[in-house]
Order: sequence, then structure tokens, then C-alpha cells
Amino acid sequence: MPALTSLKDLYIEQLKDLYSAETQLVAALPKMAAAATDPQLKQGFERHLDQTKVQAQRLETLFKDLGEEPGGHTCKAMQGLVAEGDEMIKEDAVPAVKDAGLIAAAQRVEHYEIAGYGTVVRYAEVLGLSEHVTQLRTSEQEEKDTDLALTSASTAINQAAANA
Ligand code: FE
Ligand code: FE
Ligand code: FE
Repeated sequence: MPALTSLKDLYIEQLKDLYSAETQLVAALPKMAAAATDPQLKQGFERHLDQTKVQAQRLETLFKDLGEEPGGHTCKAMQGLVAEGDEMIKEDAVPAVKDAGLIAAAQRVEHYEIAGYGTVVRYAEVLGLSEHVTQLRTSEQEEKDTDLALTSASTAINQAAANA
């Protein structure tokens, strides 16, 4: 029999991918915050680190509800996105340009997460898991708000980078 026999199996697999992504970000966001110079950007990374820890806990609660374990899967896309963030952290760049580059890396991360949460919200709807829908929508909205906050921060930072 195939390992994935129903949408529920795929849902669990997708949740594991998100859990791996979130736990990788709990490790990566403090480095992004440390590398940022602009105070608003630095605070933004720190605030999203706190949100990310809660997002991982939310997923743990959903796994418990499903009688499943969250581990055993690595999100390879997030490994790549975090590696790109690390490259930018190590880049020899003036502060405003580095900040602009950190935003570029961070927005790729948020868009990946928005795609992932958007998918599992729709699976949870079909599966009739209404509490899961509520929890996952909350995380999805936080990712969207973070993306918007990064766009907002980029206005002044990109201008400063252009003038550097
Ligand atoms: Fe997240
Ligand atoms: Fe993934
Ligand atoms: Fe995020």
C-alpha cells in the first residue's frame, strides 16, 4: 500500500514540512536580528521570532490532536532559504545594503510559509478540522503581516541603500 493513501496523510506530511520550517526559523531569526542594523528591522525580526515559536507550538498542538509526532521530516526548501539568509548575513556590505539584502531573504521565507499555510488551511477545511483551520489561519495571517511589515521597512532602507 502507498505511504500516502488519503488527503489526511498528505495533510500530516505537509504539517511536518511546516513544522520543520518553523523550527529552522527559530534558529535562524536570532542571527537575522543580530545582523540587522536598522532598529525597526531588528525589532521586526525579534518580534517574528516570538511569533515563530508560538507557530511551532500551534503545530505541536495539532499533531497531538491527530495522534501524530511532528518530527521525522526536513523541509529542504527552508534549508535553502536559510542558507541564502546566512550568505547575506556574512556578506561584506555597508549597513543599509545589508539590511536591504536581509529583507530580500526574509520575504522569500515568508512567502514560502504563506504558501505552506494556505495549502494546509484548505486541506483542513476539506477534512472538517475546524479548530485546525482556525489555528492555521492565525499563523498564515502572522506570516502575511510579517511580509507586509518587511515591505514597509524596505521603503526607507532601500532609499538609504540607494544613497549609500
Ligand atoms: Fe512561521
Ligand atoms: Fe518544505
Ligand atoms: Fe514567518
